Amino acid sequence: MAAIKTEEKPKINEIYGQMEAMEHEQLVICYDKPTGLKAIIAIHNTVLGPSLGGTRMWHYTNEEDAIKDVLRLSRGMTLKASISGLNIGGGKAVLIGDPSMKNEAYLRRFGRFIESLGGRYITAEDMNTQTSDMEYIAMETKHVTGLPESKGGGGDPSPVTAYGTYLGIKAAAKKAYGSDSLEGKKILIQGTGQVGKHLAEYLSKEKAHLMLADINEDRAARVAASVGGKIVSANSIHEIPMDIYAPCAMGGQLNDQTIPALTCDIVAGAANNQLDKEQVHARQLMDHGILYAPDFLINAGGLINVYQEYQGNYSKALAMEKAEKIYDTCLDVFELAGDQGISPHEAALQKAIKRVQDMGKLKMSW
Ligand code: NAD
Repeated sequence: MAAIKTEEKPKINEIYGQMEAMEHEQLVICYDKPTGLKAIIAIHNTVLGPSLGGTRMWHYTNEEDAIKDVLRLSRGMTLKASISGLNIGGGKAVLIGDPSMKNEAYLRRFGRFIESLGGRYITAEDMNTQTSDMEYIAMETKHVTGLPESKGGGGDPSPVTAYGTYLGIKAAAKKAYGSDSLEGKKILIQGTGQVGKHLAEYLSKEKAHLMLADINEDRAARVAASVGGKIVSANSIHEIPMDIYAPCAMGGQLNDQTIPALTCDIVAGAANNQLDKEQVHARQLMDHGILYAPDFLINAGGLINVYQEYQGNYSKALAMEKAEKIYDTCLDVFELAGDQGISPHEAALQKAIKRVQDMGKLKMSW
């Protein structure tokens, strides 16, 4: 066994510092030499139920970035589950490496690590993992959801995510314009992938003027051809005049550089972690007179879908029906924000945290 060089020693104090700041319960570091598996599972909070969250695969440049990502994402899952009224906690896993590393042995080994947690963490698909990968994981553990429809699962959750996001956009329009009609509204969708393309379908049925941006121009062109809409360059989209901006690509799009450039009335999209610095940029949007629909609230459709599957007797119609609640929850959040003079993001956080705290007290009293 090779000795660890001093400079390579894991900085355990820093990791505990991050866990303390975000109030995590557990961080599990998994390694398997024969398959090259390097996985990190973060369990943020299990007050509402076992933690559930997808497995993301990414070629992180270093382990610190992977830890930061999994800690932040798992916390987001607690908030998402809580505000959506689900009886499930927040967790997430990351696989460090190139997606080409995935094969049966690799995924089954990962499944065994999940099994070793005895149900405290339930996995599902996420960026660079697919429903077919969940089949291999399911050979080693029952704590997995998001299986293909052919195997009785709910399949790709993105249509439900897109539906919830669409309802979130409508609720925001109701608040900002007094009507939830999107007819004639200039809406820019950034990212025309799985969620973006379904969202574009809903919005085009509402006769919105769509603008579509994707670094993969062919993808944007395909969506434009199927639903109508103008393709715009994925570079400097934030300066484009628009009514509604729907970030549906990667996180961190709302930051010191982009917010001052935005001319829209509403930001409402499916991407996770849109606010670069949560409190700072939520407030900055508010100061710019832009209504922000909290990401973890309006993109919860996918979680609602996999949760439905995990409970058994999956039905897409029921998952869609449950996702409809997003519209009313958004309106409640906007009202709470208005009453308290806080940003919708803070209001959504407040609601989500309160439910976890209340249920925590209930459990403690048993
Ligand atoms: P996806 O990978 O299918 O699509 C993302 C698209 O964004 C791709 O077409 C990609 O080319 C494009 N893109 C990347 N960088 C871009 C940039 N700078 N400008 C423009 N386009 C860019 O992913 P998805 O499943 O559609 O998810 C989109 C977002 O929604 C992600 O942030 C994801 O975490 C979040 N989300 C997805 C779900 C779901 O059910 N799929 C659920 C909740 C949240």
